[in-house]
Amino acid sequence: MDKNKRKILIVEDEFVNREILKNILKDDYEIFEAGDGETALELLNSKKNSLSLILLDLFLPKLSGLEILNTIQSNTELNNIPVIVLTSDKELEVQCLQYGASDFISKPYPDSSIIKARINRVVELFEDRQTIKSTERDALTRLYTKEYFYKYVADEDKLNPNINMDAIAVGIRSFHAIKERFGSSFSDSLLIRFSKRIKKLMPNIFGMVCHLEADTFIIYSRHVDDYESLLKELSIDIFVDKEKKTPIKVQMGIYQNVDKNIDIDVRFDRAKTALNKIRDSVVKNYFIFDDKLKEKELFEEELIESFQTAIDEKQFVAFYQPKFNIQGDTPKLVSAEALVRWKHPQKGLISPGIFIPLFEEKGLIQQLDLYVWKEAASQMRKWQEKYHKHVPVSVNVSRIDLFDPTLVETLLDIVKENGLESKDLLLEITESACTSDVNAIIEKTSALREAGFKIEMDDFGTGYSSLSMINKLPLDALKIDMIFIRNAFSSESDNKMIKIIIDIASYLKVPTIAEGVENKEQVAVLKELGCEIIQGYYFSKPVPNEEFVPFLIAE
Ligand code: C2E
Ligand code: CA
Ligand code: CA
Repeated sequence: MDKNKRKILIVEDEFVNREILKNILKDDYEIFEAGDGETALELLNSKKNSLSLILLDLFLPKLSGLEILNTIQSNTELNNIPVIVLTSDKELEVQCLQYGASDFISKPYPDSSIIKARINRVVELFEDRQTIKSTERDALTRLYTKEYFYKYVADEDKLNPNINMDAIAVGIRSFHAIKERFGSSFSDSLLIRFSKRIKKLMPNIFGMVCHLEADTFIIYSRHVDDYESLLKELSIDIFVDKEKKTPIKVQMGIYQNVDKNIDIDVRFDRAKTALNKIRDSVVKNYFIFDDKLKEKELFEEELIESFQTAIDEKQFVAFYQPKFNIQGDTPKLVSAEALVRWKHPQKGLISPGIFIPLFEEKGLIQQLDLYVWKEAASQMRKWQEKYHKHVPVSVNVSRIDLFDPTLVETLLDIVKENGLESKDLLLEITESACTSDVNAIIEKTSALREAGFKIEMDDFGTGYSSLSMINKLPLDALKIDMIFIRNAFSSESDNKMIKIIIDIASYLKVPTIAEGVENKEQVAVLKELGCEIIQGYYFSKPVPNEEFVPFLIAE
């Protein structure tokens, strides 16, 4: 027997009718037969996972066809198997469709080719439906994927247009750190346990849930009155460590009583914005989207809308901040960092802290980075021509840029077009870009390095990259994140972290750059600890190109 043949169960008490159907179908399908209702149910239970179709006669001895249909429909393990009803009763045909049958074949049987075509069509539809089901669910958590979730949200709105609904974004506090500490198989199992918990709670709030990414989930539910207890129920008995000592802390961002005229993804963007506001906060567990956040949302929308014009009209300007080597007797200019600003015609000067994360999220950052790289390269060229000074400039490279297959080529073109060498352009890659797809990042940075570019790891100490990863990355400098400088000189004045980072750098045989250095005391301590290069307000804020000239000339 051909194992790959699809299986069909024929339930029909009349031997002759069974034989007719069998003859029509036996070449294409593997056939099981039942002459009465009870045998049919037995076979259904033993073959439920492999059947592609049931052909069901309605008039059977003992158990009637309609009763069997009912049993099938009320059993979740059986009700996805399609049923075609065999009947001579016109009225029953319609009734059976209402009871969940997929189609019917009237008796006396029509031409065999018609029977075959109808059966094949139903089996195909059934299989399409199964494929859809498998993409409907997220592989790890078995919760809805975003696409399907949004579709069901739309269905829900159509069904209950007047019921107040909440869009909720859920996250687990410090999930990144948990993953880092206990490994990804532990964090995956944590996500699975957590998903089961959320799913279980959904009926209580008439909600449905989707696993969006990492530890972010979104819920669409009837308006919840008591978010505190929902949070509590979500975290009961789920622990972040194997010894079951610390329960997870769940956080929620809520867009309450959603406006159903607003696009579904905007509703959940609002919930996520509210969640982001308190992400990883130790005091706040939930935050409700409010007018202030709405203003921010509007502001961001305006920025997105005016992006293209801003590029075309050159509203983005690079400012330059010098970096000095402090290990000698007098500080020596070694390079500058290009930092972008937006001279917005209506809103004035906008800081990158506001628009960079937004552009990263909306997929615009590559275009902006390319613009800044070109600006920086052409500026360097002008300085060389006019002042005969050769000062390398560093530019920021976003994580997304690293996945562009043409990156190396693009950068090589830029330096060539401006008569520069690769070593003139320093590339700052933030450490947090290096925490996933590790091998791809190592490969790309190696290729950049081979093409002659120098790599500086930015914001070092904040990004959870592992030492073994750092060891494999070809690097030319480590930039200590500003936060460690702040901490070292706060009231508790603890410079342990700075010492550790300088140690790592010397192990890697690269210099350290301290950024955010604001005063003499900090410079002295950093110098003492062995930090080579300093960037910060102590020397200069980032300045427009013409204000950078005095630094060049003094060099
Ligand atoms: P970053 O790369 O870590 O840049 C250092 C930030 O620290 C800059 O903020 C700089 O102005 C600020 N800073 C420097 N010295 C001091 C100091 O002594 N005290 C204080 N309080 N701050 C200091 P800025 O220019 O606002 O840039 C913020 C971030 O935006 C940058 O952080 C970088 O991640 C991003 N960024 C800026 N320009 C670009 C760009 O062209 N492309 C990309 N992808 N990101 C950029
Ligand atoms: Ca930087
Ligand atoms: Ca930095």
